[in-house]
Amino acid sequence: MTTLGRFAPSPTGLLHLGNLRTALASWLSARAAGGRWIVRMEDVDGPRCRHDLGEAQLRDLALLGLEPDGAVLWQSDRGPAYRTALETLQAMGRLYPCACSRKDLQKLASAPHAEDGLRPYPGRCRERPWEGFDRALRFRLPEGEVAWDDRLLGPQTDDPGRLTGDPLLFRRDGCFAYHLAVGVDDGAQGVTEVVRGADLRAVTATQIRLQEALGLPRPAYAHLGLVAAPDGSRLGKRDGALGLAALAARGVGVPEVIGWLGWSLGCLDQPEPCSTRDLIPAFAWDRVPRGEVRIPAAWA
Ligand code: GLU
Repeated sequence: MTTLGRFAPSPTGLLHLGNLRTALASWLSARAAGGRWIVRMEDVDGPRCRHDLGEAQLRDLALLGLEPDGAVLWQSDRGPAYRTALETLQAMGRLYPCACSRKDLQKLASAPHAEDGLRPYPGRCRERPWEGFDRALRFRLPEGEVAWDDRLLGPQTDDPGRLTGDPLLFRRDGCFAYHLAVGVDDGAQGVTEVVRGADLRAVTATQIRLQEALGLPRPAYAHLGLVAAPDGSRLGKRDGALGLAALAARGVGVPEVIGWLGWSLGCLDQPEPCSTRDLIPAFAWDRVPRGEVRIPAAWA
């Protein structure tokens, strides 16, 4: 089977070094396998997403030499496909309306917080009768654990009920939710390999369950360690977004950034300026470090 990798940013800010590292790793993995690579703009979260930021993200990817094979898919164009998926799940009795407010959910969070501050939904509305598609809708997870072999982390086992609980697929404000859009599109686009940040490891089992319910094939996963600031704090999209423009303003050019990213992915012994093409022959998952990486102090 030909590898199809994807990079799926949310256009809520400029790409920071963590996003760029994920993009590069997914591209390298696909290219090293002789496969294809696509970009998908995850702009379902209406108010927070901006088309111009998506365009700016694509320009940054192009500066790195990361050109997608084929047109970029914008999730805001995919409403009909997501609605069809909801109808399929409803016909199987796998959806239920959720009337819990944000406040209710905070009060209900009885289980200790899971990794990454996830609060599993405790299922309070599970027995609510169907009320139509214009309500907040949750997916009824089946019982049990999910196992997958992570390309970077090795064998993983999670209980999605403990980590996320029944995920929200459709929001009260009329937006389709992240889990639904990701699962449907990875399936519809024929993605075989999902490379993304370790902060999304905890939702993988939930997404696998959803894809199973929709009869979609399961991609392989690789969850990369996060890129942290020199002091170990998390790089946020909104707190100064250390991306290509900010680095250029500090005198750090694109070849230097690529060299550092390539080194952080185990392709180079030293961070030295290069092009993304130069890195392809040296990329291998067993050389990619698993843990967090910190950006050079001089760049912060
Ligand atoms: N759109 C998500 C984000 O930018 C990533 C989704 C994914 O890779 O599955 O955080």
